[in-house]
Amino acid sequence: MVSLKDYAPFTDAELLDKINTLAARLKGAVVQHINSTVVGGGVAEILHSLVPVMNSIGLKARWDVIKAGKDFFEVTKAFHNAFHGVKTEITERMLEIYKYTSRANLEVVADEADFVIIHDQQPLGLVERRLGHRGKWLWYCHIDPVDVDPRLWDFLKAYAGQCDAAIYHLPEYGKDLGNKQFFLPPAINPLSDKNREVSGEEQQQILKKLGISADERVILQVSRFDRLKNPFGLMEAYLKVEKEFPCSLILAGGAADDDPEGQEVLDELVQKAGCHPRVKILNLPPDSHLEINVLQRRADVVVQNSLREGFGLTVTEALWKARPVVATPVGGIRKQVIHEQTGLLAADTDELVVCLKRLLQDCNLSMRLGRQGKEHVRQNFITPVYLYNWLVVLNELLQ
Ligand code: UDP
Repeated sequence: MVSLKDYAPFTDAELLDKINTLAARLKGAVVQHINSTVVGGGVAEILHSLVPVMNSIGLKARWDVIKAGKDFFEVTKAFHNAFHGVKTEITERMLEIYKYTSRANLEVVADEADFVIIHDQQPLGLVERRLGHRGKWLWYCHIDPVDVDPRLWDFLKAYAGQCDAAIYHLPEYGKDLGNKQFFLPPAINPLSDKNREVSGEEQQQILKKLGISADERVILQVSRFDRLKNPFGLMEAYLKVEKEFPCSLILAGGAADDDPEGQEVLDELVQKAGCHPRVKILNLPPDSHLEINVLQRRADVVVQNSLREGFGLTVTEALWKARPVVATPVGGIRKQVIHEQTGLLAADTDELVVCLKRLLQDCNLSMRLGRQGKEHVRQNFITPVYLYNWLVVLNELLQ
């Protein structure tokens, strides 16, 4: 059982007071979160922390997941790619599969919900239940919609526009739907196994279990096995760096129930890594939070080489552990990695090589960036800040 007081070591008492004041106005409100997977990816990560802490301050928060088959998730993964500007054919059959599965899930919506929060595009079809429902409906878009395919957007905005409000991570993501808009970057939970402090002994045990040597320098990327995370580009950069600075590369990831492309990308990575003994591909089970925590703490440099990124919680997690981060200047990464202050930004493989070499040879730079990165996350992207921002949104919708 989490309590708001548990967050006192990480934040100001004033913020906790403000949370209590706003929460009092929402006491007993039923807040239903709906998404498409319990494990894997940023949304599941957010909900695992947000739902208990909402309950701890007197709201009645619940989390429900739509049920769907492979055909639906193939469609929504194609939609995901089409959001990110990947050329994708959106066919009539895909739209039919989407509508059919959405209708089969309509009973997921709780009649008693005061707020129904639809996370991402997969459950957006549930908006068909909006008519006659007592609650306020919110669509929370966790990805970057700027280059969304126009045909797909025409289809989805018919649902999103029926909600009372839309939430985006960043102001530059806002789309005109004729409803209220809020901007709510996500956060990490400093108390979770993914982010809590880990004793030296515990770290050693986990590293041993994962087969990671204690003395080799490590470059790490953690992410779903997804082409948009560009692990192949990172491998190319690494091979140039390790000639001069011996080190290993760890690509750690796992499957998400709503991402059917992961296996194909994993197979390709394993094949490419085959002839490089110091490249380690770790396919982790979905509950490997402590393992990821320890890997991030163990890394000499953490990379997030994404081509597109909604926010990039893996970056937040690495910064929280005061690690030096190199990442691409895309999506929400730009709000987290302030170049030369909280990390380094690298727009392409050549820049990535330069940044990796700088960090591997200059430990003062690495330490300074890590320290400043951690403070940046503490002020902006941890659970209490996120909870406060949520309460502002919910209160505003009640007015
Ligand atoms: N994650 C995980 N296991 C994995 C890969 C990722 O637990 O094998 C977590 C990761 O630590 C982070 C989240 O999933 O908390 C990924 O969120 P992010 O915003 O970086 O990317 P997304 O997957 O949502 O595109």
